[in-house]
Amino acid sequence: MQAPPRPKTIGHFINGAHDAPGDSGRFGDVYDPARGEVQARVAFADDATVDRAVRAARTALPGWSRTPLGKRSDVMFAMRELVKKHSLDLAKLVSSEHGKIVNDAEGEVARALEVIDFACALPHALKGQFSEGVSRNVDTYSIRQPVGVCAGITPFNFPMMVPAWMFAVAVAAGNTFILKPSERDPSASLLIADLFKQAGLPDGVFNVVHGDKVAVNALLTHPGIDAVSFVGSTPIARYIYETAAANGKRVQALGGAKNHMVVMPDADMGLAADAVVSAAYGSAGQRCMAISASVTVGDAAEPFLAAVKERIAKIKVGAGHDRSNDMGPVVTAQARARILDLIEQGVRAGATLAVDGRGLQVSGLDDGFFVGPTLFDRVTPEMSIYTEEIFGPVLVNLRAASLEDALGIIARNPYGNGTSIFTRSGAAAHKFQSDVEVGMVGINVPIPVPVGYYSFGGWKNSLFGDLHVYGEEGFRFYTRGKVVTSRWDEPAAGLNLGFPTHK
Ligand code: NAD
Repeated sequence: MQAPPRPKTIGHFINGAHDAPGDSGRFGDVYDPARGEVQARVAFADDATVDRAVRAARTALPGWSRTPLGKRSDVMFAMRELVKKHSLDLAKLVSSEHGKIVNDAEGEVARALEVIDFACALPHALKGQFSEGVSRNVDTYSIRQPVGVCAGITPFNFPMMVPAWMFAVAVAAGNTFILKPSERDPSASLLIADLFKQAGLPDGVFNVVHGDKVAVNALLTHPGIDAVSFVGSTPIARYIYETAAANGKRVQALGGAKNHMVVMPDADMGLAADAVVSAAYGSAGQRCMAISASVTVGDAAEPFLAAVKERIAKIKVGAGHDRSNDMGPVVTAQARARILDLIEQGVRAGATLAVDGRGLQVSGLDDGFFVGPTLFDRVTPEMSIYTEEIFGPVLVNLRAASLEDALGIIARNPYGNGTSIFTRSGAAAHKFQSDVEVGMVGINVPIPVPVGYYSFGGWKNSLFGDLHVYGEEGFRFYTRGKVVTSRWDEPAAGLNLGFPTHK
């Protein structure tokens, strides 16, 4: 009998070249989540591999950081065109390893492009300030310079968009970059590396190392890394923040979420139901900005939930490559088992299981990691289906007596990534936007991911660090400020040992 073919091996990209996939070292499995089969294996970097990437990035740093702004901008523009041209290739890669529907993956690529677009304007973003005549013949001006070698550690759920939040701005700002993408869907990062090379980015400026916590720890402790950006779950975000900071690095670490959507009794229930179903079940609920908890106010619950159930019944679940499907599988068998267990916990805790997605079978894909759309009502804040980030196609509904009550529920939740309100009342919307304890707010918009020229970030346990990613705050994170005070004067200023003043 012939041995089954070995799955392909996905390797690192260091100093402008793909590593030849070796046979030694550690590897992880990459699945086709719709079939439940291993489709590839990915090399896991050890300390030596990470060190090689850091050395490449450090060597490339002086050249890239001193490359004129216009030339750096040219590379970013070329990259923008290449990503646009390869949008479908990127989306298909994402879909095949993550499981999301190709259309959804195309949306992710489009949002990544938005950040690359923004980064093309780097000469504008890097402008400093100038004050002429702060004293006689003395001027003061500020400049922003690259931080150095930056690392980005990213989650599985947006293998194109989240890395772009980081690398587009970091590279545009003159840094060199090492991406450690999720080991569950690593392939998009390698196409990004190829496209950057084609765009004219010098070798060593953008590198990819794959792996698990061994690779991450090597990055967090390596003296050659200056800044770390992380996006992922809250326990790991906290660990990254503490460890990277303890090792003297600048760090921003974005964590998990439980995003609430408040539905006021005056809302357009059709609009609100469309919004919540798209936001809760799109990408099988595996979005950091997914709506995972609706909060109905007063008598909004009955009409809203009836409209939601009607829409859930129409969701078509299947493989990601088939554009006629609405929702794909979850990423791994472990994720599926965890979600099913949480649903069971919700039932045992006494929540009303209004739609049960357990037991969903997709024809011809018996081993796929599918969970059907699930809806709970009459959920209370102490239930685990509310306290845990389920990260699957499960929406929980809580009932609140008033807007104040709804705001209190959100304020007591430890996460603060995104939130939204559906209402026809300007007064309610205004109160919500100013009182809610969350970093990104939607008004009649369910997934308020800011456009590329604003910045993305949550509050509370959804972000450790102060600066958000991309936009203006991204450029601040990836640059260091320097302030110059200069005097160009005729000679003979005279000796003065007093402390300098401005007058
Ligand atoms: P994760 O935290 O498991 O993994 C994220 C990254 O950390 C991966 O690269 C992984 O290899 C690495 N990692 C995992 N365990 C580690 C450990 N013990 N030590 C060091 N590194 C480790 O997250 P995930 O499951 O890939 O992604 C889903 C999570 O990401 C959800 O919690 C979601 O809310 C969150 N997320 C947040 C945002 C945001 O903007 N706030 C965006 C996307 C995803």
